[in-house]
Amino acid sequence: MGFFNTLHAVVPCSKCGQSAKRDIQFKYGDSRMNEFEVGQFVGWNVNVRGQPWAGVALTAGTAGQCATCNADFLDYIIELRGDKLVAVWPRTEADDPYWNDLDNNYAIHFDDSTADDAESGPRVSLRATKWTVDNCHD
Ligand SMILES: [Zn+2]
Repeated sequence: MGFFNTLHAVVPCSKCGQSAKRDIQFKYGDSRMNEFEVGQFVGWNVNVRGQPWAGVALTAGTAGQCATCNADFLDYIIELRGDKLVAVWPRTEADDPYWNDLDNNYAIHFDDSTADDAESGPRVSLRATKWTVDNCHD
């Protein structure tokens, strides 16, 4: 409880679509108030949430109030390949098939075969591929 990481990224608001630099909190890997940008790598040493995964992993993130439309608790989806943070996008209906598993676990893990897909956004192959939930913690 209380320990999370922050991913700093320019992303659209999931409600009004306005792009802005947002602080997106998430719990995966070392969860100890670490600060990240896309392209950086999570570690696995302290207060670990979830397990390392060689393929594609998704984890849920939450951003605070949008300065444009005042919506709060905005949902984001963060994608990792291995330990690398590769993408973040606002939750859309296309993410619904796996959202509950994301929201109720630290991450979901996909087979390596999805790694050749486009760099970001909800994807047909992810929706059609089985995933495993990851709710491990130390
Ligand atoms: Zn907004």
